[in-house]
Amino acid sequence: MHEMSVMGEIFTIINKIVKEYKLNKITKVVVKVGEMTCINEESLKFAFKAFSENTLIEEAQFIINRVEAEAKCINCGYVFKIYYTDKLCPKCDTYSNNIINGYELFLEEVEGETDEDDSNK
Ligand SMILES: [Zn+2]
Repeated sequence: MHEMSVMGEIFTIINKIVKEYKLNKITKVVVKVGEMTCINEESLKFAFKAFSENTLIEEAQFIINRVEAEAKCINCGYVFKIYYTDKLCPKCDTYSNNIINGYELFLEEVEGETDEDDSNK
């Protein structure tokens, strides 16, 4: 399953952030996923659950931000929303495969907590 390997990479980054900022709990994870990536949201959520189980990421809120696929017409420069089957420019009817948005797949935001609140006990 592709989503599992994607999530593995995302968790590698999260774990680096955890170390760097000495976090003891992750509260929120936001990923950006473009429409053209063929990523299944349910599979991604499942992968997140599988990876976060029994870790300090376990209780984090997992948010998927979808990015619409857009192409820029090579003929007239018009930017328009595309679908897998429809890549025709609505302005000039030119077929355009010049996709400028929709292949995004990355970790957008991580929120966590540190021990600092307990330091003055
Ligand atoms: Zn056009």
